[in-house]
Amino acid sequence: MKKRIKEKAMNNFELKNPTKIIFGKDTIKKLSTEIPEKAKVLLLYGGGSIKKNGIYEQVKTALSNVEVVEFGGIPANPEYAILMDALQIIKEQDITFLLAVGGGSVIDGTKFLSSAALYKGDTPWDILTSNTPTKKGMPFGTVLTLPATGSEMNSGAVITRKETKEKLAMGGVGLFPVFSILDPLVIQSIPKRQLVNGITDAFTHVLEQYMTYPSGAYLQDRFAESILQTLIQIAPKVIEDPTNYTEASNFMWCCTMALNGLIQKGVPTDWAVHAIGHELTALYGIDHARTLAIIAPSHYTYNFEAKKEKLAQYAERVWNITEGTIEEKAHIAIEKTETFFNELGIDTKLSKYTNNYKGTAELISKRFTERGWLGLGEHKNLAPNDVEKIVTMAY
Ligand code: NAP
Ligand code: FE
Repeated sequence: MKKRIKEKAMNNFELKNPTKIIFGKDTIKKLSTEIPEKAKVLLLYGGGSIKKNGIYEQVKTALSNVEVVEFGGIPANPEYAILMDALQIIKEQDITFLLAVGGGSVIDGTKFLSSAALYKGDTPWDILTSNTPTKKGMPFGTVLTLPATGSEMNSGAVITRKETKEKLAMGGVGLFPVFSILDPLVIQSIPKRQLVNGITDAFTHVLEQYMTYPSGAYLQDRFAESILQTLIQIAPKVIEDPTNYTEASNFMWCCTMALNGLIQKGVPTDWAVHAIGHELTALYGIDHARTLAIIAPSHYTYNFEAKKEKLAQYAERVWNITEGTIEEKAHIAIEKTETFFNELGIDTKLSKYTNNYKGTAELISKRFTERGWLGLGEHKNLAPNDVEKIVTMAY
């Protein structure tokens, strides 16, 4: 019998994204008309940056006719135990609407609360471990203060539990924000470390949905390539001058478009870099984006044969590499990607972040085995021992 070769094809898909985006200068004031009438709002925020850069005042002014309770202190990598305190407030104070004002951590934390507020089980951590999608959550909106994750227009979240050093994902159709306000003026106060994290996270989100093979979704490929090209274009300018509105607004929209569901339609998606990266944050507290920059080059090198044609396409179309064989272009593509991260000031080796890196690969492989994560990547064929090799290459 003839061996069946997997054909390039556009996969079937469904697309529904109900989040209303309100984009542009001075749009935070529009909160006043977006919050449902008679809502009792829980305003959720992080470690206090919004109190220093004027965003808090803008939000409070816009909410002056609404009943508002506040909960601050959601840390980067939103922590389960802290979110459980917020959950108690939601229940005790009969909150009906959640408003996240922050980056991915505050928004993800709010998504967890949206789900947990209506959850019938005893232990909300089960939402993270049971892999059950949330069909309905408490309604929430967001004011994005840090472009990076795309969480403002998707239905996923990642929650950390310090006690067990775990970082797990959740999601479901019930967890799209009702609205998200994207005012690029918020970018002015973002420190360089977070700007480069945002660029790197968004860039890797695109790679996770694009660097897969075979795919026959030509338009999705071009969407993905245009986001990568735009991020490469704006990166040095945003870092040099985050008050440049044109660069900042393009940066913000790229990050949202990178993970609002559009570019993943009709294509196989990978997500192994994120799955492994989450473990590095859980174990060592390394910033999310940096874990991706550590893992991505090793992942593409380890899976070179399976991904080389797509890597070569990326080399040609995104990095303008026109000379050489498919293999040569594909190698250059990996080098270019790593150099891009390095030039942003991001180290791409685990040993630059921790001295305790030995044994990490075995530990992650063991954790994946215990969780039954036996096949990662777009073909679900990366076993825990492959993950072990990828992490070892990233030391
Ligand atoms: P973040 O953890 O939300 O924020 C990082 C830091 O930036 C915080 O210290 C924050 O300070 C500060 N910050 C935020 N806005 C600022 C502003 N306008 N000016 C000055 N400082 C500001 O960062 P993030 O990269 O957006 O989110 C990372 C989290 O999202 C990780 O847990 C990651 O796993 C997750 N993630 C989620 C998705 C998804 O689709 N849901 C995708 C990728 C990653 P304050 O705390 O003081 O505000
Ligand atoms: Fe991410």
